[in-house]
Amino acid sequence: MTEQTAIRWEEDADGVVTLILDDPNQSANTMNELYQSSMNKTVTRLAAEKDRIKGVILTSAKKTFFAGGDLKMLSQPAGPNTRTDMFNATQSLKADLRALETFGKPVVAAINGAALGGGLEIALACHYRIAIDDPRSEIGLPEATLGLLPGGGGIVRTVRMLGIQKALMNVLLQGTRFKPAGAKEQGLVDELAADKDAMLARAKEWILANPTAKQPWDKEGYKMPGGTPSMPAFAANLPAFPANLRKQLKGAHYPAPRAIMSAAVEGAQVDFDNAIKIETRYFVELATGKVAKNMIKAFFFDLQKINGGAARPKDIAKWQPTKLGILGAGMMGQGIAYVSAMAGIPTVLKDMNLEAAEKGKAYTAKLLDGRIKKGAMTKEKADGILALITPTASADDLAGCDMVIEAVFENRDVKATVTQEAESKAAEGLLMCSNTSTLPITGLAKASKKPENFIGLHFFSPVDKMPLVEIIMGKQTSDQALAWALDYVFKIKKTPIVVNDSRGFFTSRVFGTFAMEGVAMLAEGLAPASIEQAALQNGMPVGPLAVNDEVSLELGRHVRAQTKKDLEADGKTYEAHPADSVVDRMVEEFGRKGKAAGAGFYEYPKDGKKHLWSGLSAFVKPEGAAPSDEQFRDMKDRLLYIQSIETIRCFEEGVLRSVEDANIGSIMGIGAPPWTGGLLQFVNYVGTAKFAERAKELEAKYGKRYAPPKLLLEKAATNARFE
Ligand code: NAD
Repeated sequence: MTEQTAIRWEEDADGVVTLILDDPNQSANTMNELYQSSMNKTVTRLAAEKDRIKGVILTSAKKTFFAGGDLKMLSQPAGPNTRTDMFNATQSLKADLRALETFGKPVVAAINGAALGGGLEIALACHYRIAIDDPRSEIGLPEATLGLLPGGGGIVRTVRMLGIQKALMNVLLQGTRFKPAGAKEQGLVDELAADKDAMLARAKEWILANPTAKQPWDKEGYKMPGGTPSMPAFAANLPAFPANLRKQLKGAHYPAPRAIMSAAVEGAQVDFDNAIKIETRYFVELATGKVAKNMIKAFFFDLQKINGGAARPKDIAKWQPTKLGILGAGMMGQGIAYVSAMAGIPTVLKDMNLEAAEKGKAYTAKLLDGRIKKGAMTKEKADGILALITPTASADDLAGCDMVIEAVFENRDVKATVTQEAESKAAEGLLMCSNTSTLPITGLAKASKKPENFIGLHFFSPVDKMPLVEIIMGKQTSDQALAWALDYVFKIKKTPIVVNDSRGFFTSRVFGTFAMEGVAMLAEGLAPASIEQAALQNGMPVGPLAVNDEVSLELGRHVRAQTKKDLEADGKTYEAHPADSVVDRMVEEFGRKGKAAGAGFYEYPKDGKKHLWSGLSAFVKPEGAAPSDEQFRDMKDRLLYIQSIETIRCFEEGVLRSVEDANIGSIMGIGAPPWTGGLLQFVNYVGTAKFAERAKELEAKYGKRYAPPKLLLEKAATNARFE
């Protein structure tokens, strides 16, 4: 039996060796053990047979070039020897890449598809990079987005290639994924090729023309582009680096960008091998830390599970709408029309009059125009997409629609009327969807002829940008309707979570607790600027007072009134939230209804930035006081804990059906901080026992909404995780 290898060796008559990355056990190449041993053997052989060899082309037999680090391994909890083992393994992996770039013959990376993370790091250890110009393939070092850093030499080499500033700002800190053309613009690849044959031919040409190729940093007289920190002019600028980073992160808990910056700056002041060592140390620190594990779980494993269709009922044929009807061409309807047409679905956009429907279609025209101007789309393609949308005021045009989404006013009667009208005109057995943000789906389905085909499709605004759709199952919604709805959401390239019916479903319900908690703090007399700051330091994108303004205080009151009415109809009573009185005072006494009305917790000057309304000082007790350190710590905890507790309640009540839905839904739909890995993973991160203890403390201090739910207490008893 021949030994397995992840790197095949082929050699032509001219002495050019092609190394083909091709892991025999997986569909993509990763930096697993087989790769490591194969690369080690390969570089040993290259050195031994060097005299005969003219040069090396490194390419891959997979659809992608190389997928990167082995995330399965990286997501394992760290054991007692993990740090040392990981340090040594990483160093030897990098030693092999160093051997490849210094064995004495030209090496060209022929990047046939996506090269992300470790994949690009391998290519950076080559003397020249040629990529196939396929806009579907991505090239970059996205480690920062997983809480990691490029630990395979990616920092050391980009810094030496591009300079500290460019490497950090353009490539490393944001973890940007470039299309091949963009990667060339950044200097990450040297040349683009039309196809595989052209790429390989050019690679060979380059090898023959550059027999003495060396990396720039291995040539005599090498100078780092932009200078190094040892130069006075550069050193003077250095303090601005961490200051800017702090401003960007707003004090939130992201160890990766800080470590990347440190590795880049420190590594620039020493020789190559020591820079490599510094990079490895920072890598191990991040990779064994909890934030990276949170982010890898959410952005790789949870997302992969969801987008792999884990929630889709089996044995139902794959489906797609042949003609979609959208009712209501307002803010939401027009956005849904755009994403549907972009996915190639013929769409009828109906509103009360033709003018309103045409205005809705014009929204798509505007977005397409933007794409043409950016050079991202041709005029012909855009015209074809626009032509898929038929604006109308007549329900007769819904004939033949096998899917309808209503996005009319948030009113039960209006929704019932349009549902019945659509079902009478559209195809028999259609999938009927509602984009309601608050009204329970089971109730809305009562208007439908076929409640088993009725389902909630909760989009987020603005629809073209927000990646999530919350699918809501009514009591009678069938598996087939769910499968179809999922197929549609995948078709429009969004990420779905699936939840069971409840007031506010999952996302609005949890989001509401965050918004209300901020106002409750104001009711207690805490300083408004500190309330907003506490949220930002947690890593939420906006503070709770700003959020109330965005949503509108009036709408909040409206939802409260409706909730009260519904609860009373069920024989229950509404329990006032401490935030209610502040919201009422803001609207009734001060006439400040929110951003759309031009005044809320914030002032919205016509020619300036919004700022907190000075009148809020009326609430602060004692007037003008800033919170103590302990109070501020509590504020930060409260804004996260209240959301996680509500998430656990949703889980306990069966509103949430899976842990990954909770995590991804909270990050993409609610704005939960990515470093937490999502609102349920945050509980795991703290530890269920510790979390429950802290919740009890907060309950004693701030009220029974912090009481740990039964499910949490059960998990806490054995410190079990939400898995
Ligand atoms: P909107 O007021 O911007 O649009 C509603 C549109 O429906 C208007 O153009 C109106 O003319 C039209 N309409 C009303 N009655 C109609 C009828 N009988 N036939 C055809 N068209 C009719 O409202 P919106 O913000 O787009 O919200 C629509 C729905 O989406 C609501 O249920 C809302 O709760 C939900 N939603 C809104 C958001 C958001 O952020 N705005 C987010 C998620 C869900």
